[in-house]
Amino acid sequence: MVFGKIEEEFKEFLENRRKYNEFIKNGLIDEDEALRLFKIDNWRDYLKLFDIASKVRDYFKKEIEITSTIHITNICHVNPKCLYCGFAAGTSKEGYYEPFRLTDEEIKKSAIAIEESGIKRVSCSSAHGYQGKEVIRALKIVKKYTNLEVLVNAGADLTEDSIKELKKYGIDTICCNLETINENLFKKVKPGEELEDRINVCKLVNKYDIELSTGLLIGIGESYEDRVNHLFYLKNELNVGEIPIMGFNPYKGTPMEDHPKCSALEQAKTIAITRLIFPEIRITSPTPTIGAELMQFALLGGASNVATVIPKNHPLNIKGVGSPKTGNLDEVVKMITDLGLKPKLDWKRYKRYLEVYKLKK
Ligand code: SF4
Repeated sequence: MVFGKIEEEFKEFLENRRKYNEFIKNGLIDEDEALRLFKIDNWRDYLKLFDIASKVRDYFKKEIEITSTIHITNICHVNPKCLYCGFAAGTSKEGYYEPFRLTDEEIKKSAIAIEESGIKRVSCSSAHGYQGKEVIRALKIVKKYTNLEVLVNAGADLTEDSIKELKKYGIDTICCNLETINENLFKKVKPGEELEDRINVCKLVNKYDIELSTGLLIGIGESYEDRVNHLFYLKNELNVGEIPIMGFNPYKGTPMEDHPKCSALEQAKTIAITRLIFPEIRITSPTPTIGAELMQFALLGGASNVATVIPKNHPLNIKGVGSPKTGNLDEVVKMITDLGLKPKLDWKRYKRYLEVYKLKK
């Protein structure tokens, strides 16, 4: 296995025998090594992989970020709908199902509640069909009433003008997930969308020098070669600040309801390999995809951001995009600290939130 070589290279970096820029540019593994790591199948290799990936994460990330969620609207104009989607109106009775569009007041109240809980970052996402106007509306409100860092996700539904507008209002990160770079598979699971449209949005985000988040949806029928090609496409063709790794988790009532869930181990392995290719970036695991109670697998794999984390004071009933169940803030904080890691929080606010909600620390 390649672990000896990876450990040696990381040691060289730690001992200043490797230049920082060169290390970041090359990462710790190439395509062949990534593919070999995807094929590991015994606990000894898993433990070695998680050990080195966690060490790399700990070197670059002193705290684990926590990102909460505001869903702006689930009214999606993509037709036909993505086969796995339980988020858009009318797709799954386990999801929101009924159409909604938050009022400005609801966005404001949600953002203030999230900040009061001690969380420092929020993701605002909207379904497709508004040329980015819905996420611009959300960004303006969140930035006006809070100091939260903001990621917006409207998929491919952003124009160049809307990206410029987001930059003008202080956006921190724009997310546009390619999901899979296998074109045939993309077309199969997302028949109403074009992969190229998503790639173009990613390129525009880079063009305006805004942090780009772009993730992989795994366990939908792609091969390990597809995952390696995808990760190295991101490495070589785009400038990426965040990669969400999202394991498929079936939503009842959708065309993919019988497709098997992607295991937590498979997600953790993909996170760890991503960490070795991209040592310094934010690697995100959303709680609904891995399963809120299995989040520690992602952290063992080297994730540095837990997303879709909902505090008890959130005024709205949030359902996950990958599955309905989301992670609760105090449980996620405990899972992070139980591993000896440090959650990134406004601790003063978080303590006040715990007192108000009478939660145990
Ligand atoms: S995944 Fe996004 S684009 Fe696809 S149907 Fe659902 S909301 Fe619409």
